[in-house]
Amino acid sequence: MITLSNYINGNWVEGKGKGTVLHDPVTGAELATANADGLDLASALDYGRERGGAALRALSYGERAAMLRAIADVLVANRERYQALSVENSGSTAVDIAFDVDGGIGVLKYYASLGKGMGDARYLMEPDLDRLGKDEAFQSGHVWTPVRGIAVHINAFNFPSWGLWGKVAVALLSGVPVLAKPATATALVAHEMVRDVVDAGVLPEGALQLICGGGRELMDLVRPGDLVSFTGSASTAASLKANPNIVRNNIRFNVEADSLNTALLGPDVEPGSAEFDGFVKEVAKEISVKAGQKCTAIRRVLVPEAVIDQVQDALVARLGKLAVGDPRNEVVRVGPLVNKAQQKAARDGLERLRSEARVVFGGEADFPLTDADHASGAFFPPTLLRADEPDQARDVHDLEVFGPVATLMPYRDAEHAFALARRAGGSLVASVFTGDDAFAADSLLEIAASHGRVAIINEPVIKSNPGHGVVMPQCVHGGPGRAGGGEELGGMRALRFYHQRTAVQADVERLRRLQADAVTYTG
Ligand code: NAP
Repeated sequence: MITLSNYINGNWVEGKGKGTVLHDPVTGAELATANADGLDLASALDYGRERGGAALRALSYGERAAMLRAIADVLVANRERYQALSVENSGSTAVDIAFDVDGGIGVLKYYASLGKGMGDARYLMEPDLDRLGKDEAFQSGHVWTPVRGIAVHINAFNFPSWGLWGKVAVALLSGVPVLAKPATATALVAHEMVRDVVDAGVLPEGALQLICGGGRELMDLVRPGDLVSFTGSASTAASLKANPNIVRNNIRFNVEADSLNTALLGPDVEPGSAEFDGFVKEVAKEISVKAGQKCTAIRRVLVPEAVIDQVQDALVARLGKLAVGDPRNEVVRVGPLVNKAQQKAARDGLERLRSEARVVFGGEADFPLTDADHASGAFFPPTLLRADEPDQARDVHDLEVFGPVATLMPYRDAEHAFALARRAGGSLVASVFTGDDAFAADSLLEIAASHGRVAIINEPVIKSNPGHGVVMPQCVHGGPGRAGGGEELGGMRALRFYHQRTAVQADVERLRRLQADAVTYTG
């Protein structure tokens, strides 16, 4: 069994104490221990701020983009090893690996290419200049410069690679050093990736540090100029954000939390049509991929009451074909949950949902497994519930069961559908399947404000749609309200979090010269 060490202050160091054991969620085998207790995190944060920050800020956006490309090259060269580790530590199927391992590499490549176009510049500047008074020569503009602290990235267990690199790519491109903390239970992939990147020597010292486990004191140690980007459950987010040091110093804090995302079938869609079939396929895929352990997974399936039985039959038929078990067997489509604790949490959550919705598929504790057994593995069956009275129900709109679980609900008319979509109190994403332009436009106006992303799918784009749960780096990721209220990615928009906007009042000719040396930025 290996011990995951921590990369801080330019060295790999082991924590003190016994540490947490990481398991294979299929076999229960012990894989590694992770431990960051007793580390001097205050000095690690200083090291990042001083060494890493200075080295990164000495480079242009274009040079930092080349660094991202070099990281991606290292990861591509070792991809097969990460795939194997992802199977071992997360029970990932081939599709799950594509989401996480390849997703992480993809976002690095995307920001490498975007940053290449930013060339030699070292700051951003808005295009508009404004006159401040009678004198036309004295005007104002707005520059964006990289913050001078360190970014603390705290990530969730379900995306050890994508969660790490999606954030690191934007921070490093911006010129901001990072201390990253993957979730302990699945830290193996992140640990190995960072080890390879450090060994390859493609980053300046202090630009990227990693702790595997612990980190409980981090919120007390950050200071003005630092940033925190948190991904995980809403309850952890709330407690970290309320830390007195965070509040007192107004530490910039981005939250990506959980969400009860919606799939909405338009009233125009007939059973047997391309949109109907595409909708059913999408919902079944969202239930099965990563065994439903995706913050973007569809949890609430809203359909016209006239077709709910047909949708249910079609979904049950698809879910019935999914083999659950050890992803090392190619027939398996649904792997395990990440550990027994998550399995218990999902079972408890399902029990609560059962009080207001009935199970129409799955839900049982004992079900057939391929090449695996229930005693060792943390498996959960693909499960579909149906809530015929969605207005009276509460938990189906509020309780995220982090597993392969979704609830089907009927709506009476468009207004009712939109009201139900908004019931989740803010979500990451909704998918609307409709061939009707008027319904598409209405749904956008009615639900956009409570969602970070809306995919409006009609027949011509069904095949091009990367998928409801896929976060594309071109698009903003995040959602209002219980989804955390944060924003990540979204092309250039992501740089905003890592920069400070400053108004500059000066001679208009001087402002124009400043603009000439900057990347033009519109946010
Ligand atoms: P979690 O239990 O909230 O943990 C998230 C992270 O916070 C982990 O790295 C955890 O470390 C760390 N943490 C916990 N307490 C801490 C403290 N006091 N100080 C510093 N760090 C602390 O969430 P999870 O179970 O890993 O992830 C599942 C949840 O994440 C789901 O609800 C899912 O919807 C959400 N999620 C959201 C997004 C999004 O982009 N919106 C993406 C993925 C997942 P340890 O592992 O060491 O406890």
